[in-house]
Amino acid sequence: MGRRISSFFAEILYIIWGERANRGVCSMENRKTMLIVDDMEINRAILMQFFQDEFHIIEAENGREALDFIKSQPIDIILLDLMMPVMTGMEVLEWLLSNPRYGDIPVIVTTSADDVNSEVMAMERGAADYLTKPYNPSIVSCRVQNVLGRRENEISKLRQAAQDKKISAMQQILDIDQMTGLLTQKAFLQQAADKISGNPETRYCFVYLNIASFKLINELFNMETGDTILKTAASYFNTIVGKRGLASHLTADSFAILLPEDMLDMDLLIQGLDAMMHSLTIYRTVAFFAGVYQIDNIYLTTSQMLDRAHMAMTSVKNSHARRFAFYDDALRTKLMDEQIIAREMEPALNNGQFFVKYQPIYKIDTEARTMAPIAAEALLRWQHPEQGIISPDRFIPVFEKNGFINRVDRFAWEQACHFLSRQRDWGLDIQPISINISHMNFYDMSFVDYLLRLLRKYDLQPWMLWLELTEKSYNHAPEQLTKILRRLNSCGFSVILDDFGSSFSSLGILRDLTIDMLKVDVRRLYAHGNHDRVDIILQAIIDMAKKLNMQVIAEGVETPVQAELLQTMGCHTMQGFHYSRPLNSDAYIELLSSLR
Ligand code: C2E
Ligand code: CA
Ligand code: CA
Repeated sequence: MGRRISSFFAEILYIIWGERANRGVCSMENRKTMLIVDDMEINRAILMQFFQDEFHIIEAENGREALDFIKSQPIDIILLDLMMPVMTGMEVLEWLLSNPRYGDIPVIVTTSADDVNSEVMAMERGAADYLTKPYNPSIVSCRVQNVLGRRENEISKLRQAAQDKKISAMQQILDIDQMTGLLTQKAFLQQAADKISGNPETRYCFVYLNIASFKLINELFNMETGDTILKTAASYFNTIVGKRGLASHLTADSFAILLPEDMLDMDLLIQGLDAMMHSLTIYRTVAFFAGVYQIDNIYLTTSQMLDRAHMAMTSVKNSHARRFAFYDDALRTKLMDEQIIAREMEPALNNGQFFVKYQPIYKIDTEARTMAPIAAEALLRWQHPEQGIISPDRFIPVFEKNGFINRVDRFAWEQACHFLSRQRDWGLDIQPISINISHMNFYDMSFVDYLLRLLRKYDLQPWMLWLELTEKSYNHAPEQLTKILRRLNSCGFSVILDDFGSSFSSLGILRDLTIDMLKVDVRRLYAHGNHDRVDIILQAIIDMAKKLNMQVIAEGVETPVQAELLQTMGCHTMQGFHYSRPLNSDAYIELLSSLR
């Protein structure tokens, strides 16, 4: 492929530079060759007189001699007498006509004033013009110049046409992605612009498609399988767009299509694509995610339009629930908000705009009808100078996408450790702080070492930190999680599975891993109605946890009714607004002090 491309360029360069080089040669050797054919020496001498300064002149006494010259060297123009012995001028013209190799040489026939018939016959046999004897010097010179000028014009037109043809053939090859046969991104954007402006009555849509974890697929299988996937998808897209749309292979695992809106049915498109991928019988699911931009602003460039489709795609990529999204105002606002967050996060962390609140976790003694905090969860806040307090639900997902979460998490953990050391300095009985550990930390072990360093730095014990992880850590790296959990257990940390039951892998984790506590988000469980059924599920979770020797923490407990119900179900550890909202560190210290 590399070699082919470079040879295209070599050819293009040859056309451009070779052309110039040839012109250069012409201008250096600027005397053209003129063949004067006449049996009368005097006639030849007159013509020679006219042209010897300008041309390199060869003389021939008859047609036969002329042909010998023509065959043996390049001739630019022939002045040809018609009446000659051995071989006539007319015979020379006929010979030239039947030998296309020489047919391009312009011939001016020289005739006597009264020989109109011969002039006509000569012109019919391809002569470019005629000169009448006796010669008028200015007419002779003009005619020769005209004929040569015309000839050059024709040649340059022919050359231009050949050059255009070659370039357009090469352009076509450059516009096509070699592996899939679809348009390259550049050609796609260009042709999309032409299509949109050429069909103002049609509303078009851009669809951006990307394969989830394509890199992994390439690593698990081989490049050939990867190529087969891409080619299969390409031929599907090609069929989908037909003659009214365009399809492009943008980069390794991304495609784009342009379709008139009336042809767009995303459910059908994804279903068809899934079926195509399924037919390849690769044991790992190959899933495409898509984003759609329905053109509502024709003043955007096609590249900006494709960008919007891409943004819509990123909003659903790797989600379990949705495979495609449309670009709309809500998404636009969300994406802009994400951009602002991403731009400001670094200075915010450096300028101390992040801080941690602590939400107490209570133990309820049903018989004694008492309750007391036994731990607190550290929850991050962003004190933004203009926007006020920003909630983690707004910034954590952005940080998880761009990787900043690892730094912010470490900041929160250090705050928690510092806070624990303050509890000790105040002479309080230390209560554990539960910290959130984003799944992004589970790609390597380094966060465990970091936690151990923090404990040493603040002179703390592992039991003082409860670690909250979510099911996402299991989905992303199950083997890695097993190793890390083993290490955390052996170090003496307590591990909580947060948001238990919020996705399908919960039971898998309980089967495979050692977890100390489950956190069940009551608010979320009851959010969608079906209270009777949720009661049964909650009861089953609490019973199961007991049998597996795990504690259950109910979080999001907002009302006395919920609190009562949970206790009758056998859950006595609670977190929620009913007990306490998240407190700033001083308020939490005050709460702990009041217990003494
Ligand atoms: P989460 O870990 O499930 O934390 C519980 C969330 O529920 C907290 O929201 C808490 O304020 C809220 N909450 C507790 N009780 C109630 C209640 O009775 N009613 C209502 N409506 N809400 C209650 P918050 O602080 O906004 O945090 C949201 C999420 O952000 C957390 O959910 C957690 O996933 C994430 N988060 C917060 N801090 C951190 C952090 O330091 N690191 C990481 N990775 N994630 C964090
Ligand atoms: Ca949590
Ligand atoms: Ca939670």
